[in-house]
Formats: sequence, structure tokens, C-alpha cells
Amino acid sequence: MPCVQASSTPQNFIFNNMKKQTIAINTPFVRPDIYGSLAVPVYNNVAFEFSDAKEMADAFCNRIKAPDYARVENPTVTNFEQRVKALTGAEHVTAFNSGMAAISNALLAVSEQGKNIVTSRHLFGNTLALITSTLHRFGVEARLRDLTNPEAVKDAVDEQTACVFLEVVTNPQLEVADLKGIAEIAHEKGVPVIADSTIIPFTETSLKDLGVDIEVVASTKYISGGGTSLGGLVIDYGTFPEINQRVKYDLLFNLGAYMTPQAAYMQTLGLETLDVRYQRQASNALWLAQELSKIVKVNYIGLESNPYHALARQQFGPTAGAMLTIDLESKEACFRLLNNLKLVHRATNLFDSRTLAIHPASTIFGNFPEEQLKEIDVRQTTIRISVGLEAPEDILADIKQALGNKE
Ligand SMILES: *Cc1c(COP(=O)(O)O)cnc(C)c1O
Repeated sequence: MPCVQASSTPQNFIFNNMKKQTIAINTPFVRPDIYGSLAVPVYNNVAFEFSDAKEMADAFCNRIKAPDYARVENPTVTNFEQRVKALTGAEHVTAFNSGMAAISNALLAVSEQGKNIVTSRHLFGNTLALITSTLHRFGVEARLRDLTNPEAVKDAVDEQTACVFLEVVTNPQLEVADLKGIAEIAHEKGVPVIADSTIIPFTETSLKDLGVDIEVVASTKYISGGGTSLGGLVIDYGTFPEINQRVKYDLLFNLGAYMTPQAAYMQTLGLETLDVRYQRQASNALWLAQELSKIVKVNYIGLESNPYHALARQQFGPTAGAMLTIDLESKEACFRLLNNLKLVHRATNLFDSRTLAIHPASTIFGNFPEEQLKEIDVRQTTIRISVGLEAPEDILADIKQALGNKE
């Protein structure tokens, strides 16, 4: 078969007046499937054959766009990346085999010995450890600051800053920083902003418009849907072109953390139903937060009483995600609640179709000394709930019976 130059990329497709739900489902293949398969075919292979030596050389040297080896390119993964690109308006999208792989590749793309990363103590546990421990071993300094305080960010960013890294809503503290304000400070010094948007899907807001240069996502969560597969995305808005060069032509080749075709297939299916699932999960979460706040202390950015409510609404629109936390009187009360749950599952992960509950201090952060837990505001009294797609009345009834049962 002759090597077809990829031409029908999503940019050539008329998406002008279409909504994200439509784009998520109808982004065309880079090359049409020869059988006309409507669902994305799974290319579960490693190598790709060429018709002659010149075509092979052209593909390897990037003079034509054609996959040669699945560690760095695979049509099923490419299709997934193209859909995310069409949805976000990014310049480049690269899919990785976990959220941590996407985050570590993005940070490695900007880091080198002697550089520093300005970030917060309020980070996903492994991201905090990646920055303060793994990257630290390679001579990268972690500058942990209060990112809700612009002065603290201004003081920390200098010529040696590799990036400002933050989570758009921190997990589990649910803190929200002013993205435009941070981007202004960083860009004044020529420093990129990298943001983890796992908690609010990119179908709800445009981080690009808020000044973010690189968006990273654990697609394991909302996108995979139903907890089917691990995955991560580096969504590059093209404002620092050298980052994509590093990701695509250095790290992808040399670290080998590309997404697998099976995961890309499942995550493409997840992407197709993301919007409808997200809308229901977010509305379930809001209703549950309102009801639970009548009986326990609830932290959810969708509640008007939440200190970050106005900023979150301004940045992310009317929905507030499907993660909330509740605080009880003690760790023992938290364990009792978890043990009494009948419907809600005792499990980590976020944005599964099922509602999940976890005590972060004794699990995700279980190996952190008490002193450090205090510094990062992870309390022994907190339970994190990821709200699923069940009827919200049933979720509430289960939590209520578990709270009421003092056994
Ligand atoms: C889960 C999560 C990650 C890591 O994703 P994995 O796919 O588990 O590697 C990173 N950031 C946030 C905010 C997460 O919730």
C-alpha cells in the first residue's frame, strides 16, 4: 500500500460551530480506516512496513508522517491524541501510559541540573514526591510556596525557574489558585506554567485562555470512565515550542512511556461519553454536597460558602467537579464510616462510574510523617469522596446510614 500523507487532520474538518460533545465523537481518523470502521480500530502491533527504502527513510527522518515503531507512534493512540487536540485547541498532544508518566515527562522536558520548580505543597502525593525527591536527586530544586499568594510566587520565580507547576484544584485540599495571575508573573520571567487539570475536564474550561502553557491530565480518571485503563496526556499550547521537541523527539524515544493501543481504545470510548458522564457526576456531587452539609462539614468548591467558589466559577464555569471531602470528629469516626458503607466503595481512584471513598491520611499519604501531613494540610479527620453515576439519593442514604451507625 502506498504511504498516504496524513491530510484529513481535524484542523481541516469543519468544527467551527460544533460543540465539544460533537467533536469528541466525530473527530475523523488521520487516515481513514480501509474497512470504514466507525469505532477506532485497535492497532495492536509494534512495527509498520514500508513499500520501499526511500519511504522508510522519509518516515524515520520525519519527512513524511507515517508510524514506524509503536513506542513512539501508533494510529490508535494518534487518533486519541487528535481528538484531544480538536477538543482543546492545543498545538500538540502526547498520550502517556499513566498520569504520572505525563507529569514526569512534562517536568523532565523543562528541567535540568541547577533549575528550580516553583510549586505548592498541595499536590497529588506522587507528584509531590517526584518533584521533591526524584527530580531533586538530579539537581532540580523544589520551591514550595503558597500559590494562592501572588507575592510568594513573584519572590520564588527567577531566571533559573524551569516552570511553575500547579494543580487547578488541589487534591485533597481543594484549593484553587488564580491562573491568570500566576501566568502573568511566570511569563514576565519567560517561564512556562504547567497545570494538572485532572479534577476539572478540559471540556469545561480553556486553560489556554487562562494562560497555561502546558496542561497535564491523568486520563485514568474522568476520561477512561469506569476505571478501565491508566493514561496521561501532555497538552501543549505551543507557547514554548522547545517543550514539544523534547517530549516528542527526546523523552518519548528515550524513556518509552507512550500510551498502549488498548488503553487508547478504551480512553477514546471514554472520551466519547465524557461530557454526559461528567455533567451527571458534577450535578450528583453538588446535590450530595448540599445535602451532606446539613449534617457534616463538607469541602466542595461548588458550594457558595466555599472560599474558592467565586474564583473556581470564574475559571472553570458553572460545574465544580465530582470530588468533595467531609470532615468528622476523629480518624476513628472516619474509619467507622468507611467500614459501615454498603454501596459506596472503599477504593482510591477518582471519577470512576461508582462512588468511591478513602481516608487519604492513612492511605495515599500513609507513609508521610505526621509533621509533614500538617504542612500539606492532609488531616486525619478527612474522608475524600469521588461521586459516581448512581442515583444521588442512594449515595446519600448509604453515607447517612454509615454516619448514623456508631458500631
Ligand atoms: C491520579 C492523579 C494523578 C496520577 O495519575 P495516574 O494515572 O494514577 O498516574 C496525577 N494528578 C492527579 C491530580 C491525580 O488525581
